[in-house]
Amino acid sequence: MTDEDVEVESGPLEVDSDVAPPLINCPNCDGMLPLGLGMKTCALCGAVANIEHEPTRKEWANERFACPNCSKVLVCGVRERPAIVACSSCSGEIVVKSKVVKVEIACPSCERRLRLKPRPGSRQITCPACEDAFKVTF
Ligand SMILES: [Zn+2]
Ligand SMILES: [Zn+2]
Ligand SMILES: [Zn+2]
Repeated sequence: MTDEDVEVESGPLEVDSDVAPPLINCPNCDGMLPLGLGMKTCALCGAVANIEHEPTRKEWANERFACPNCSKVLVCGVRERPAIVACSSCSGEIVVKSKVVKVEIACPSCERRLRLKPRPGSRQITCPACEDAFKVTF
């Protein structure tokens, strides 16, 4: 079975990891580095940092999740995210995606709490409550 067959039949089997790697600031400019472990390039100053976090790797390897196809509980066993794991019961291939980390900020105009995915650098967002646009920087 090829990957294409899987997608046509039922879409890829995916689960979200519950283990988040730590948010790390750039050692050079203190901006936020892209989330994850390994070599990361700072989006703000271009510095390259090698981020290692053994506790996160261990938790990734030991993380349990239920197969979305047959509900069997599997241990991931892979020390990185995303990871591809074969189900021992239905032999489906499951993609374990990185955890989506969201941070909470308050709209400067109406103080409504907004949750967004941190991305390095500045960007303009529009508050869904008061439709005011403002800039956020991580
Ligand atoms: Zn930097
Ligand atoms: Zn399964
Ligand atoms: Zn607002």
